[in-house]
Amino acid sequence: MSRVLIIGAGGVGRVVTHKCAQLPEVFSDIWLASRTLSKCDQIAAEIGGDKVKTARVDADSVPELVELINKVQPKMVINVALPYQDLTIMDACLETGIDYLDTANYEPLDEAKFEYKWQWAYHDKFKDVGLTALLGSGFDPGVTNVYIAYALKHHFDKIDTVDIMDCNAGDHGYPFATNFNPEINIREVTANGRYWQNGDWVETQPMELSRVFNFPEIGPRKMFLLYHEEMESLTKHIPGIQRMRFWMTFGESYLKHLEVIQNIGLDGIEPIEFNGQQIVPLQFLKALLPDPASLGPRTKGKTNIGCLIKGSKGGKPVSRYIYNVSDHEACYRETQAQGVSYTTGVPAMIGAKMMLEGKWKQSGVWNMEQFDPDPFMGDLNRYGLPWHDIECDIDVDTLPEA
Ligand code: NDP
Repeated sequence: MSRVLIIGAGGVGRVVTHKCAQLPEVFSDIWLASRTLSKCDQIAAEIGGDKVKTARVDADSVPELVELINKVQPKMVINVALPYQDLTIMDACLETGIDYLDTANYEPLDEAKFEYKWQWAYHDKFKDVGLTALLGSGFDPGVTNVYIAYALKHHFDKIDTVDIMDCNAGDHGYPFATNFNPEINIREVTANGRYWQNGDWVETQPMELSRVFNFPEIGPRKMFLLYHEEMESLTKHIPGIQRMRFWMTFGESYLKHLEVIQNIGLDGIEPIEFNGQQIVPLQFLKALLPDPASLGPRTKGKTNIGCLIKGSKGGKPVSRYIYNVSDHEACYRETQAQGVSYTTGVPAMIGAKMMLEGKWKQSGVWNMEQFDPDPFMGDLNRYGLPWHDIECDIDVDTLPEA
């Protein structure tokens, strides 16, 4: 019996639940809990056949989580709520003796600063009681970490540079909408950029560095350098890496609206007084924007996320590009969610499968690149995210600026 408790019934939660339900031999019993019960019930109804049981939970409350976990008695919790809930859910897992998985690192609600230090601080607590916590089992972080671990295992003696490139060429027809939680998305892209070079972080202004890259199956797109959370663990775990950067593409309409949002302060996270009540501008903006879950049926086009990796083997230079291309409409047909939720939810299911099958089971708190990449890479091909692994000698620095 491998009963799982999935927490969070948003876009990613929908995909994880669908994917787990497709594999009853691994996920024999599925519970889906979230703040809004009706969203859980809707996903359970989509899947049908009484395969998914649902519950309401406030995942900010450790006692509520503990009560639910004790009632459900799962083997593990798959946390696909928001990064703000990571620590409360980890605390509840420790209290009840249950393994843990998430897709995004902890971020305090009142400070736009995500880092692993809070969750890494739980390593000994998990280790001492023989439990596993797997961090960042989405696409980026997640699959990107595994691509790099796979490259190191099979193609390189030493990796010198990595450029992670994330292109979402999906068109949902709205002038401005975000493909995942708007609060998290806008906090991420309006922060200063940062990349790793020669043992230190180099900081940039938001969107200061850009290039045009010709993404396979999509075409040329403008991409901008951002800080992204997988770089924190990868620069620690990939020995001797000299430079690591993360690039994300944005369309003209998205950039135009984002500039206006910033200029008028709608991206603020400090509460302001409005008509006698306190409101947080970014939360207000979230209420105005389309729900990412509603973008699924409207989104056309593809995503391409991959890693361009350079280094050497046996003294000879090696350059590999490992990437996945997903089609929004195909993702929607299968799980009723668009590609960004799909590319996050599938690796969350596979990470959970690795843990339940004992392939990635070690006491403590771990990032994805710390486990053997091969079984995970095999399952990506099997369960909806096939990858390409090609020779590629493109130098990102010689590409035109956007
Ligand atoms: P959504 O906003 O669509 O869904 C989040 C869900 O969590 C909602 O159902 C929400 O409930 C629920 N939730 C929020 N707060 C609580 C709470 N206190 N208690 C219980 N449930 C709560 O987000 P996504 O599905 O797009 O993203 C889910 C996670 O995946 C996020 O952490 C995100 O950062 C991460 N992610 C990771 C990626 C990767 O590649 N690694 C890429 C994309 C996302 P309600 O419906 O009531 O609001």
